[in-house]
Amino acid sequence: MADTRAIRYFDHAATSWPKPPVVAESMIRAMEDAGGNPGRSAHELGLAAARTVERARSAVASLLGATDPRDIAFVPGCTEALNLVLKGGLKPGDRVIVSSVEHNAVVRPLAALAEAGIEVIRVASDEEGLIDPDAVELVLREQPARMVVCQHASNVTGAIQPVGDIADIAHEHGAVFVVDGAQSAGHLRIDLTDLGADAYAAPGHKGLLGPQGVGVLYLARGFEPQELVQGGSGGRSEDSRQPRTRPERYEAGTPNTFGIAGLGAAAEYLRAHGDEIRARERTLIRRLVDGLSDIAGIRVLGPRAGSERVPVASVVHSTREPDEIAFALDRRYGIAVRAGVHCSPWTHEAIGTAETGAVRFSVGWSTTDDDIEVALQAMAEACA
Ligand code: PMP
Repeated sequence: MADTRAIRYFDHAATSWPKPPVVAESMIRAMEDAGGNPGRSAHELGLAAARTVERARSAVASLLGATDPRDIAFVPGCTEALNLVLKGGLKPGDRVIVSSVEHNAVVRPLAALAEAGIEVIRVASDEEGLIDPDAVELVLREQPARMVVCQHASNVTGAIQPVGDIADIAHEHGAVFVVDGAQSAGHLRIDLTDLGADAYAAPGHKGLLGPQGVGVLYLARGFEPQELVQGGSGGRSEDSRQPRTRPERYEAGTPNTFGIAGLGAAAEYLRAHGDEIRARERTLIRRLVDGLSDIAGIRVLGPRAGSERVPVASVVHSTREPDEIAFALDRRYGIAVRAGVHCSPWTHEAIGTAETGAVRFSVGWSTTDDDIEVALQAMAEACA
């Protein structure tokens, strides 16, 4: 077994690690004390499981500012949530406008939909990877669309998109607005009542600090995409059609109760400590970006120094390949980063790094001042 105490973990944008201890504790407790099938069996263990799921739903709703917990569906992940919204909210002949910096979780379902007769129009970002709301408006004025899709924050550059302004523009032009919140949930304070998104998708395992295998889909009232999966919901079983009620419509089959228990505990943890965690992440990423920018040959991608970003910073070096740097950091210093294109070839195309990819550092709730110092020293040596 690896000695994980020695790892300096800079891969929170891929998945947060470690998790707050309450996460595993609540998963084990659910397995032991709430091991029935939630919403199905009326015996004590089934009811305990249902209470576990509903408590988690309320915690997540409250963390993300959704007024009605029924507007939160638990799904297997952010990718599944995005697939649901795109495939269930668009039909052949529709047009969708999408930012040019999306992750493959958006790009690939849209490529499949394009083959099924849906027109996909990309709005270019600037060289920092930011989307200008006026550019979205320009397209919408000429080419009305059913849907506008934009990430909240980039998993490559850390850029935070002006989603509130894009939401207003989408709505003025009669489009629904879908937000990929994979890199914002947990790392930014989210108020879904205010954000203007008709759909917001988030993985439970990144900034929300839960386990892998459960994600969150928020749907505003009035946006009712077709469900992706039909099946048992525990109620109205005599009806062969999928229920239209929330959240049952979007949660066919037995859920990941233990994963949801972990996510619920993580959401409660973030409700108590989120502001403090976010403030620390902002300080640490700023220090990391400043330090990396000072190393000869290094270019930090994305928002210019001093701009707000989620705690993600990707870099390229004038002569060293990203893989070479990541390998050296791992083997020589026990520093875990991610090299490559991060499932986001569109973003790398937009910012001019499609050929090389980049080395990505992402910090999180468990990152320390010492981690930053060690990483900067290691980068200076690895790039010397
Ligand atoms: N969108 C973005 C911006 C992401 O960074 C990720 C995860 N890398 C996803 C979507 C998909 O998340 P998941 O793999 O957890 O479904």
